[in-house]
Amino acid sequence: MPTNRRIVLASRPEGAASTSNFRLEEEQVPTLQPGQVLVRNLWLSLDPYMRGRMSDAKSYVKAVEIGEVMVGQTVGEVVESRSPQFAKGDHVLTQLGWQLFGATKELVKVDPDRAPLSYYLGVLGMPGMTAYFGLKEIGQPKPGETVVVSAASGAVGSVVGQLARIAGCRVVGIAGGPAKCDYVKRELGFDACIDYKAGNLDRDLKESCPKGVDVYFDNVGGATLDTLLRHMNLFSRVVVCGLISEYNATEPYGLKNFRAVLVNRIRLQGMIVFDWKDRYGEALKALAGHLAEGKLKYRESVVEGLENAPQGLIALLKGQNFGKQLVKLA
Ligand code: NDP
Repeated sequence: MPTNRRIVLASRPEGAASTSNFRLEEEQVPTLQPGQVLVRNLWLSLDPYMRGRMSDAKSYVKAVEIGEVMVGQTVGEVVESRSPQFAKGDHVLTQLGWQLFGATKELVKVDPDRAPLSYYLGVLGMPGMTAYFGLKEIGQPKPGETVVVSAASGAVGSVVGQLARIAGCRVVGIAGGPAKCDYVKRELGFDACIDYKAGNLDRDLKESCPKGVDVYFDNVGGATLDTLLRHMNLFSRVVVCGLISEYNATEPYGLKNFRAVLVNRIRLQGMIVFDWKDRYGEALKALAGHLAEGKLKYRESVVEGLENAPQGLIALLKGQNFGKQLVKLA
């Protein structure tokens, strides 16, 4: 049996995460208990929420303990099984985290013939579900409305914008830099994309959203959210999905335009994807259908090798990824 390699949390970051917060360890591959399955992980997902798990601040889920394996979803293959539901060679989605092998009872099968395995961590996985339910259930877009989404080239944002287009909306993305904006417009088919790094977000929103904004799907928080509040229409909706611009910050951003929520009766609602776990099948069917019809484009940003996962997460939190961030483990 090969040796397992895993990355544990070595220390909690203050401010930006660094490679010294992680430690690579080796151990024997565990012996299976009845009901467990041994999985060789092939792909590891890197997600912005991982920065939150490195901190012990109160959140909607428990922090990773010092010395514990970093959390994360993986897609892998069953190499040994003591469960009647899984057989050697099955492909599975797991919560095994940053390691090459793991024994678990928490896994579901995925179909490699339906889509490439890595897609179950992205467009057909947690980010895709987030986009689908956040937009449909909280954003509630209607045909002809204007939908704006930030981190528009990323795993969640790219799906949100394309679903809003399919729903008949005018869609405006916000992304960092000309290359990402070009991709969002040309490849993903958004009506417009604003490069917030150019420094004219307020003016550019006026130009791109002449009728104001009906739905803002917020992936970043901070100054971008604050600026958007000034452009929201009467009875508009803000989907508070993520605050990535603040994850490495030591002080929270203080909103200056909150008054707009009252004046324009904006519905501002947080969303956590797990709240829809009973309906993941519905989202999977819809997203896989759009993919098969060529209506949903998707892009990945791949780091090779478990040892490079810390650098991959650090880069993701700086916006250096371009598409869904993954680690190829095998
Ligand atoms: P992405 O693939 O979108 O990658 C993150 C992107 O965020 C970067 O590429 C970058 O894009 C942008 N970004 C990074 N730093 C900043 C910054 N300082 N200011 C503004 N933008 C920044 O990641 P995901 O799609 O996986 O996640 C997007 C958001 O959705 C995150 O906030 C995440 O926490 C949240 N999320 C929430 C879930 C929920 O259940 N509520 C579930 C899944 C994700 P750019 O270069 O364009 O700025």
